[in-house]
Amino acid sequence: MTEAPFFPTIAHLNSRGADQQGFHEEASAACQTQPARSVFVRAVVEVSNFCRENCFYCGMRRDNKALTRSRARMDRLGELILNHRPASVTDINIQAGEDPVVVREVVIPLVRLIRRETPLGVSVCLGTLNPSLYAELKEAGASIYIIKFEIADPELYSTMHAPGNYEERLQNIHFLASQGWKVSSGFISGLPEQSIERLLGNFRLAGDLPLQGCSVSPFIPGDETPLKNAPAADIELTLNCMAAMRLMRPDWVIPAVSALNLVEPVTGYRRGLRTGANLVTINMTPGELRDDYLLYKRDRFIMTEEKILRAIEAENLEPSRLSLADYYLQKTASCARAAA
Ligand code: SAM
Repeated sequence: MTEAPFFPTIAHLNSRGADQQGFHEEASAACQTQPARSVFVRAVVEVSNFCRENCFYCGMRRDNKALTRSRARMDRLGELILNHRPASVTDINIQAGEDPVVVREVVIPLVRLIRRETPLGVSVCLGTLNPSLYAELKEAGASIYIIKFEIADPELYSTMHAPGNYEERLQNIHFLASQGWKVSSGFISGLPEQSIERLLGNFRLAGDLPLQGCSVSPFIPGDETPLKNAPAADIELTLNCMAAMRLMRPDWVIPAVSALNLVEPVTGYRRGLRTGANLVTINMTPGELRDDYLLYKRDRFIMTEEKILRAIEAENLEPSRLSLADYYLQKTASCARAAA
């Protein structure tokens, strides 16, 4: 008899103490990607804090007039990635506010350069763009698109002024997958007005979308946002969501996000790895852009290679030698062989 696939209950999301520990251990053991106990190591470069969206939760929202807006320079980024990247990095994630200008002027040439000069895989997290920009990015050599659905509840999505509108965001996820992108998505846990039932809706939606991975980011009240006085997400709830996501999809790539350390300094990130997360991110954003790449608070928690490798080792994990992009290629090939 085959077991029914896992789907979390309210009890899972609220679990604490010994129940919670057992739940997280089960999740950690469930991870089925590439060599067991290995985690993918990518670097993120944040290339523009211009944003045409106005999300209530995000410090980069267009109405935040306190932010100095700028775009990174392609030559500076190229030099950094080609000659100064940490040795453990196998993939580069290029992230920005929703800024088509930086995509055309910086990201597309940068992707071409990285793919021509290095063995690195490339993922992009650039928001909702038009089909021709998606096609140019893919043709340049990016293969993974990270586009969070943010909030599964259409009403809350609209109240929070999340990117574009709910239908459009989901249509873009479907479109990207139909064009051969490996799509990873994600949602925010602990947003104001997000009941536990609404939170569960995120798992339903994630399970219905054509995804290869999904993140859970704890809500952090951004200093320069309309939600600045709201309480931050509960770390236990966020970790329970991560464990639930892992049990729901043992084969997905699930990141440990750096914001875990903002909600629970030092231990939050390591506890994220303990729920079966298998992707870590080193921040390589050039210093001059970093301070104004404002998602949450100006006081950012920057993940360096040293901090990441220490956390991996402390959790008895190993950095993957295989890039995320090559892992997805291999996974697709083995699925095709199995289907033949
Ligand atoms: N602009 C792109 C997009 O829309 O996909 C790239 C990502 S956007 C710069 C930053 C991401 O950070 C958002 O997708 C959102 O999930 C997350 N984020 C922003 N503010 C947040 C907050 N206060 N708490 C938790 N996550 C937040």
